[in-house]
Amino acid sequence: MRRRSFLFGLGAFASPALAQASPFPLGVASGCPRPTSVVLWTRAAMPGPMTWSIAEDEAMRRNLRNGSAVAEARWGNTVHVDIEGLKPGRPYWYRFTSNGQASEVGRTRTAPDFATNPETLRFAFASCAQYEHGYYAAYRHMANEQLDAVLFLGDYIYEASWGRNLVRRHDGGRATMLDEYRARYALYKSDLDLQRAHAAHPWIVTWDDHEVTGDYTNDIDQYDPDPAHFLVQRAAAYQAFWEAMPLSNTMRPQGPSLRLYNRYRFGDLAEVSVLDDRQYRSHHACRATLGRGKPLENCDERRDPGRTMLGREQEAWFADGMRGASARWNVLAQQTLMAEVDRGPGERHVYWADGWDGYPVARQRLLDAVAASPVKDTLVLGGDVHAFWAADLARDFASAKAPVVATEFIGGSITSQGPPQERLSRYAAKNPHIRAALGEVNGYGVVVLDAKKAAVSFRRLSDVRDPAASLSTLRRFVVERGRPGATPG
Ligand code: FE
Ligand code: CA
Repeated sequence: MRRRSFLFGLGAFASPALAQASPFPLGVASGCPRPTSVVLWTRAAMPGPMTWSIAEDEAMRRNLRNGSAVAEARWGNTVHVDIEGLKPGRPYWYRFTSNGQASEVGRTRTAPDFATNPETLRFAFASCAQYEHGYYAAYRHMANEQLDAVLFLGDYIYEASWGRNLVRRHDGGRATMLDEYRARYALYKSDLDLQRAHAAHPWIVTWDDHEVTGDYTNDIDQYDPDPAHFLVQRAAAYQAFWEAMPLSNTMRPQGPSLRLYNRYRFGDLAEVSVLDDRQYRSHHACRATLGRGKPLENCDERRDPGRTMLGREQEAWFADGMRGASARWNVLAQQTLMAEVDRGPGERHVYWADGWDGYPVARQRLLDAVAASPVKDTLVLGGDVHAFWAADLARDFASAKAPVVATEFIGGSITSQGPPQERLSRYAAKNPHIRAALGEVNGYGVVVLDAKKAAVSFRRLSDVRDPAASLSTLRRFVVERGRPGATPG
C-alpha cells in the first residue's frame, strides 16, 4: 500500500494560476495520527460550508465517509475535522469540496494498533523553515519519503525577517497581531512544496519560539518584558498556530494557553512524547533576555533547581509517561538542543541561555525520568540550532564515565541559516559527547525504528537557494537497542 509519489506525477497539484482560484488555496493536511483517528485540515478561501470525504483508496472510489464542516471567519476560515472509527495502521485518502470544486486529494495514515508489533516505523523530523532563506525543496523531497508521520519540531514560520542573501521576502513586517500571524502562515503555506509535504503524510507538530517571537520565554520576550501585554500577542500567535496546523478540535487555544504536549503510540514499537518547552519555562537566567546577551558565563542562577523548562504540570506528566512506558522505543519530539555544549574558548565555560543549557537542573530531572523508565531505549529529536547534530545524553555531562541514557539527533533546518562549521567543530572538539555537529547545509532527518535498532539519516539538500535542489544523505547513524549512543551507520 505504500507507494511513492502517488500524488505528484498525476497533475494533482494545479499550476499556481489555477491554485489561486481554488476554494482551498493552502492545500490540505492531516495530523495527530492515532490507531482509529486522525485530524483532517484545510483553510477555505471564504467562510462557509463545505464537505469532506475520506476513502480507502487513492482514486477515492471506496468512499468510507462524508461529512460537512463550516469554515468560520473567527477561526481564520480553517476547518479541523476529527475523524474517528478508522482502521489502525493503514493509509487513507481524503479531500474537501466546496461549491462543486474539490481540493486535491491528501493521503494520511493511522497509527498501528497498540497491541500490534509493527516491523518498522519511519518518521521524518524537521524544523526551522525561514521562508526568505531558501526554497522548500526539502519539503518536496519529504513528500516522497515513505513515512508513518512527519515530526515537525518548531519554527514553522518566522515572525520577522532576518538573514543574508534572501531568495524571497515576507510580505509584511514583524508579526504581533492575529491578522499578521495568519498572513504569515498563509504566505508560507502558499508554497506548493510545503503543501505537498502536508498532503503526503500526517504531521505531529510542536512549536519553538518563532511561531510567536524570537527567544520568548513563557510570558515575556526580549521586545516586550511586560507579561500583561505580551500574553495578548502570545494568544494571537497560538490561535494562528492552531488554525494553521492539523491539530484536533480538542486542542483549541484558550486565550494565551494551548496544550500542545501529547503522546502518540505506534504499536509496541514506539511511543512519541511531544514536548512544549516554550509556554511554561522559567525566564532566561541572569536576565539574559533583557539585552544582556544570550551566552551565560559565571551565572549561578542557571543552576537554580527552581528553574523549569516544561513547567511543573508537564514535567509530572512526562515523568508519569516514562514510568508507564512499555513500547520498545521512547521518542521525545521537542524543540531545542538537549546536550550540554560548553561554548567557551579555552578554559572558559559559556552556555547558551535559551536552550536546555539555560535550564540544566530541569534537564537533569528530565534525564532522570528517562533513566527511570522501564524502557531503556530513548531517542531525543530536536530542532532550533539550524545544523545537524548527534549527541550522547548522559546523566552527568561532566563525567566521561556517566552512563549514556538517551541519544539525541537534530535534523538540520529546512531553510534557516545557521552557524559556520568552524564554530560547530570547535564545540564538538570541546564536548566529547557531541558525536557530530554539521552545519552550512539544510535538510531534515529520517529515523527508521525496528525491534533491534534505530537508523537515523541526515538528508541534505544540494542547494537551499535552488528550488529544484536534489537530496542526498549526509550522514547515517545507528542506535542499537540496549546500547544508547550514536554510532556511525
Ligand atoms: Fe529556527
Ligand atoms: Ca528557535
